[in-house]
Amino acid sequence: MFGAVEAGGTKFVLAVGTAEGELVDVTEVPTKAPEDTLPAVVDYFRRYQLFALGVGSFGPLDLAPDSPSLGILTDTPKIEWRGTNIRLRLEREVGVPTYVTTDVAAAALGELRRGEHGPLESCLYITVGTGIGAAFLLHGDIYSGMNHPEMGHISVRRAPHDTFSGVCPAHGDCLEGMASGPAIHARWGMPGQALPAEHEAWQMEAHYLAEAVVNYIYTFYPQRIILGGGVMRHPHLLGKVQEGVLERMRGYHVAPTVRSIQEYLVAPKLGPLSGVYGALLLAIAGYRG
Ligand SMILES: [Zn+2]
Repeated sequence: MFGAVEAGGTKFVLAVGTAEGELVDVTEVPTKAPEDTLPAVVDYFRRYQLFALGVGSFGPLDLAPDSPSLGILTDTPKIEWRGTNIRLRLEREVGVPTYVTTDVAAAALGELRRGEHGPLESCLYITVGTGIGAAFLLHGDIYSGMNHPEMGHISVRRAPHDTFSGVCPAHGDCLEGMASGPAIHARWGMPGQALPAEHEAWQMEAHYLAEAVVNYIYTFYPQRIILGGGVMRHPHLLGKVQEGVLERMRGYHVAPTVRSIQEYLVAPKLGPLSGVYGALLLAIAGYRG
């Protein structure tokens, strides 16, 4: 058996699965301080005979190749987790090789391999929730440069007459600062789930997401873009973003696949399990070397 962890801001999703990538058991523990959460994670996995563990974690993380602190949480806004190395702790305490990537890269892997999106050479997965992140997969591998990208923190053009200063602690009005779940809450004084479908919040949200998607298309030109995360569960938002993307491209270098925007910019197919499926695949791939 193989173990999988999706370490998120509010909960850790834990799972065990087979070498074929099928989930056998899934459970959750709340994200509190490391000394409260990690022992519960270790206890869960000690009940199984595992070959390896895969972790998709919130970040930022040190994922620089060959870094001595590989897997350590760096500038995370969750202060009590800064300096924690989830990968190393689990490897030592569960006693099996443990592999780590970002939560969004794990979700991207899960969707690409298990989500029945068809064979894709390149794919971008974006999540819009408590934070915003994206991962680019090329030939099935997660793209990383000197460290993992932070595509949620790009600069985007402001919506006309928008004076909101943004909530990103580092940048203020970057994409995450303007369009994450906490940004919606701060801007409108209530969470996205409480805002009705006809509220202007959704057109504003679609503006920022469409701005970002156009930037990602022109940067990577992926064969498919999957747009997931809690904020995207709002029923009409995806359609608004799809429209906004084509409008902004203004016909310039628009591939025929992009013109079929409903098939090009799509929702995830594995729902909340994308990340844990991806972490399982990471464990299996790591174990096989
Ligand atoms: Zn930012």
